[in-house]
Amino acid sequence: MDFDLTAEQKMIQKMIRKFADEEVAPGAIDRDRTKEFPVKIFTQLSKMGMMGLPFPAQYGGGEADTISFAIVTEELSRACASTGITYSAHISLGGAPLHLFGTEAQKKKYLTPICEGDSLGAFGLTEPNAGSDAGGTQTTAVEDGDEFVINGSKVYITNASYAKHLAITAITNVKNGEKEISAIIVPTDAEGLTVIDQYEKMGLHASNTTELVFDNVRVPKENLLGQRGNGFQQFLVTLDGGRIGIGAMAVGIAQAAFERALSYSKERKQFGKTLSEFQITQFKLADMAMKIELARNMVYKAAWLKDQGRPFTKEASMCKLYASEIAMEIANEAIQIHGGYGYMKPYEVERYMRDAKLLEIGEGTSEVQRMVIARLIGC
Ligand SMILES: Cc1cc2nc3c(=O)[nH]c(=O)nc-3n(C[C@H](O)[C@H](O)[C@H](O)COP(=O)(O)OP(=O)(O)OC[C@H]3O[C@@H](n4cnc5c(N)ncnc54)[C@H](O)[C@@H]3O)c2cc1C
Repeated sequence: MDFDLTAEQKMIQKMIRKFADEEVAPGAIDRDRTKEFPVKIFTQLSKMGMMGLPFPAQYGGGEADTISFAIVTEELSRACASTGITYSAHISLGGAPLHLFGTEAQKKKYLTPICEGDSLGAFGLTEPNAGSDAGGTQTTAVEDGDEFVINGSKVYITNASYAKHLAITAITNVKNGEKEISAIIVPTDAEGLTVIDQYEKMGLHASNTTELVFDNVRVPKENLLGQRGNGFQQFLVTLDGGRIGIGAMAVGIAQAAFERALSYSKERKQFGKTLSEFQITQFKLADMAMKIELARNMVYKAAWLKDQGRPFTKEASMCKLYASEIAMEIANEAIQIHGGYGYMKPYEVERYMRDAKLLEIGEGTSEVQRMVIARLIGC
């Protein structure tokens, strides 16, 4: 067993931490208030070669491993979780299905702009009536000559306003009452597709969350991604990788909350002592540190299994579930340690809690993770 990062992983960690501290963290409070999307940060990340980090060099990728992807997602989320989710979705939901299931021509055409940062990656699964039960998809793609004609809608889709194309799921046939769900690549400027960016969210304010409306959107049949009828299965595989990203985001937010709580507890005095001199505060901080350590190890282990080409569905679910729940708990405790100040925006800990909440919902709720884990442990 080797718990050390490799030289390359350490180099990536050092570089992204410096970038996150110097370029991402300073504007995070403002972006949370103004909801301004961090365009400049993503231009810089493109120049740093981060946008295609785990993908092959032939498409402009960096050929790094999944642990490196987790490190970058953690460090960005520690500074600004809106930046973290944008990056995580770009790689693990936008780029990954193209990499896993695309033809050579599709990878050249659609993965390359993602790796080069010319397009953000996005993924359209969720619908108004198909969330946890994603197989309940109602969007249809009907064949008409050489084209599919798509009608329906998708909700809560991350990054779509900044994506040039995205993969979606749609029903391509119904046989004996069974839906055939396929994945199809759709250019976001296709006629009849409207991308609406109007949600008023609880947190992650600087991330882009959109509704997609398809009104007779025509795409060539060659835009089918992977095997016809395998769309739902392909998206489940994609979500396994995405859950490592959510776990890494959670570790980043929890780490930020812990660091704020630790430093505040050493400054704030009550009853003639710093808060950190009270044993109850020390115990809270000790618990936080322990839970972060465990969550980070779980994320790295799931990423490592993925990199070994071994099954990682259970570990990805476990790391996502555990890390997102401790991120909420730690953000909440960090506010408590700050007292009234923690309730105020400049201290940032309240933002961590609002941002962390999404991690218990997106890419499968905590209940869905427990269902996945229960199935895989033989319940
Ligand atoms: C900010 C944001 C970004 C997102 N980004 C994307 C994206 O990029 N692409 C995308 O496709 N989707 C995205 N989503 C959607 C997200 O994945 C879904 O919201 C999530 O899967 C839950 O679906 P739902 O909201 O329909 O909730 P529901 O499925 O309606 O669940 C409601 C509640 O019921 C519980 N529940 C449901 N079924 C069961 C059951 N069988 N047993 C026990 N409890 C159950 C759930 O756990 C939950 O607590 C995003 C969502 C948000 C909020």
